[in-house]
Amino acid sequence: MSGMKTAAVIGAGFGGLALAIRLQSAGVETTLIEGRDKPGGRGYYWEKDGFTFDAGPTVITDPDCLKQLWALSGHDMAADVTLQPVMPFYRLNWPDGTNFDYSNDERQLNAEIARLDPGDVAGYQKFLEYSAGVYHEGYEKLGTVAFLDFASMIKAAPALAKYQAWRSVYSMVSSFVKSEKLREALSFHTLLVGGNPMTTSAIYALIHKLEKDGGVWFAKGGTNRLIAGMVTHFERLGGTLRLNDPVVEIETMGDRASGVRTKSGWRIDADAVASNADIVHSYRDLLTGNRRGARVAASLEKKRYSPSLFVVHFGIKGAWPGIPHHMILFGPRYKGLLDDIYNSGVLSEDFSLYLHHPTVTDPSMAPEGHSTFYALAPVPHQGKLPIDWDEIGPVLEKRILDEIGKRLIPDIHDRIVTKFHYTPADFGTDLNAHLGSAFSLEPTLMQSAWFRVHNRDDAISNLYFVGAGTHPGAGIPGVVGSAKATAALMLEDRAR
Ligand SMILES: Cc1cc2nc3c(=O)[nH]c(=O)nc-3n(C[C@H](O)[C@H](O)[C@H](O)COP(=O)(O)OP(=O)(O)OC[C@H]3O[C@@H](n4cnc5c(N)ncnc54)[C@H](O)[C@@H]3O)c2cc1C
Repeated sequence: MSGMKTAAVIGAGFGGLALAIRLQSAGVETTLIEGRDKPGGRGYYWEKDGFTFDAGPTVITDPDCLKQLWALSGHDMAADVTLQPVMPFYRLNWPDGTNFDYSNDERQLNAEIARLDPGDVAGYQKFLEYSAGVYHEGYEKLGTVAFLDFASMIKAAPALAKYQAWRSVYSMVSSFVKSEKLREALSFHTLLVGGNPMTTSAIYALIHKLEKDGGVWFAKGGTNRLIAGMVTHFERLGGTLRLNDPVVEIETMGDRASGVRTKSGWRIDADAVASNADIVHSYRDLLTGNRRGARVAASLEKKRYSPSLFVVHFGIKGAWPGIPHHMILFGPRYKGLLDDIYNSGVLSEDFSLYLHHPTVTDPSMAPEGHSTFYALAPVPHQGKLPIDWDEIGPVLEKRILDEIGKRLIPDIHDRIVTKFHYTPADFGTDLNAHLGSAFSLEPTLMQSAWFRVHNRDDAISNLYFVGAGTHPGAGIPGVVGSAKATAALMLEDRAR
């Protein structure tokens, strides 16, 4: 695509923004077109009654992958965004009252492991070595390169074999440690990128090493400030962000993308088009003028999608210094619950929760003397059994708040100043997420790397993809890594 001067990027999620910054930094005149009134995608936010509620990502890992976006043009991310360390990384809590503080402080972590089972300290060290190996192979070497052909998969095969990639994270962790609680503590991370610990490839154990080396961070003011910083930086470089105007068509001429058209009737020609929007939506609803759209969408619709999430946001009276920033409140079942969510599609009576408490790190996110929280529960996506979220939403919201009341904040209902919930149906409506999935394609081995949506379409040679549905997958480091792979491909194509 010799002479690529302009690019249109559809969707201002982390992936779209990171790609747009990379292209603009390389001198490509880039227009980023977002359907919603604010950028961020899963990283959207609301302000209500003086509380700031981030909609999605809260755990910032691998800060270097973000800093690179500024360093590319000689800027410093610190001028736009302040990252604050979070410690412990997470507190895990079980219904029997056991707490486990998880961090990269080796001495403290070993003490926590010994409290669960002294015999597991040595096993944990072996797990750490395993995690470091897969991190090097799977993330450092392959996390930011595009898998465009099967040959690239063959090249990765020896590493996949060496690390027994066909086994699940839970199975691999269980080969190292015996305590069931520790097995849960070392395997739950795949849920953060949409994967079932019981079936997701053991390669994803790399997240443990990623967190250990890079730490866990929080953007001052919330993840929305990180998004705002990315936008400031993109615009400073000369890029254009168009909000509130969803793309309705990726225009093509033969086997070339020629531009995009939006709902308002606005259109733009572009030498290259990249979509950060949901992959099924992109092919099925946007590539309507090209036969490839319906064909690829039909094959994508047959794949397995990650579950959705039910999120309760609440602002309450009082400060809670004893509740850490990130907590996992495990329910009474682990394997059975995961099976209900991923396979049967049943909305179970019990649930496990991730509790986000940003005001313990940054009190400015609530009025003085108040606290901001969200609690999320993984739930089946909308392609499983039908669930009427208008009816179930308020019921599940109350049950989740009751559980937090029982385990952490006894008079929670009396303290609530504001609350609302976000359902799988909202993921579909607001983000065009296929089946309301929160993380796009489920990260199984057979849906990873070359088996995921390619960063460049196989037939339309100037149509690209970026974000959770592409390699390497969901999570901020994943989608920012996919932007690096896609940008490299686009700039290589430009040089041809
Ligand atoms: C509740 C929640 C908590 C999470 N927590 C974490 C965490 O702590 N740490 C972490 O690393 N990851 C976390 N994740 C995962 C992470 O947020 C996502 O994987 C990542 O943000 C997805 O980014 P993306 O680039 O794929 O784009 P998305 O965020 O999906 O953005 C895509 C954008 O495209 C736009 N769009 C769609 N259709 C159109 C159209 N037709 N025209 C124009 N625009 C369109 C959408 O509005 C959206 O803005 C979490 C996810 C959720 C939902």
